[in-house]
Amino acid sequence: MLKDNIISEMLEQKLEDIFNQMFINEEVKEGSSGTPIAPTSAVRSEDRQKLEYLYNYLKNVVPSDAYVSFQQDRITVSLKPTNPYDDKVVYEGVDTNKLTKYIGSILEYMIDEGMNIKPLPEVKIKRDAENAANFFGRTAYYDPNVKEIVLYVEGRHMKDVCRSFVHEMVHHMQNLEGRLGNIQTANTNEDDHLLEIEKEAYLTGNITFRNWEDKIKNGYEK
Ligand SMILES: [Zn+2]
Repeated sequence: MLKDNIISEMLEQKLEDIFNQMFINEEVKEGSSGTPIAPTSAVRSEDRQKLEYLYNYLKNVVPSDAYVSFQQDRITVSLKPTNPYDDKVVYEGVDTNKLTKYIGSILEYMIDEGMNIKPLPEVKIKRDAENAANFFGRTAYYDPNVKEIVLYVEGRHMKDVCRSFVHEMVHHMQNLEGRLGNIQTANTNEDDHLLEIEKEAYLTGNITFRNWEDKIKNGYEK
């Protein structure tokens, strides 16, 4: 099964949700290391239920050129922005042009370091307010079936997004080297192979990111 193979960076995720599409939005919540960068508003659970009900309702009734987003204590309906890759919009919090540039620089660094990353994966940037508002939401994932990395950028520091990116690049390498195998769960507590795969991704990913960062900061950037 295609979906079973996805390396997911969260613990309580339903795999069916993986292909849920973007709810592009402005509002901000958490970073992957759990650092809140905006206070989360407390919503009573009954109010939240009502909001969820409304959200599900509105999602189905708005026209296709609009989108609905869930933002903790409210729901907004607005016009869909264009693909971040195509326009020059500087989003609140995430400058996708800069992000793309850093990602390019990291890829170049990895190639220079002789890391086995070719063919390069597809990289997609997603802005998903609902996901960002969920503490256990996704930060990134790699789909080995289509060699694609998806980065959730909403509410995150760009550096944090890039660190996630390098982590996923290690999964890409593991995939190219045929070492991913068939991952049946997203839970590292249930699968020793996944645990080993993740250990490598965290270690190699974070060290690679740090080395790249130090290189750039020390002025070796082209
Ligand atoms: Zn991972």
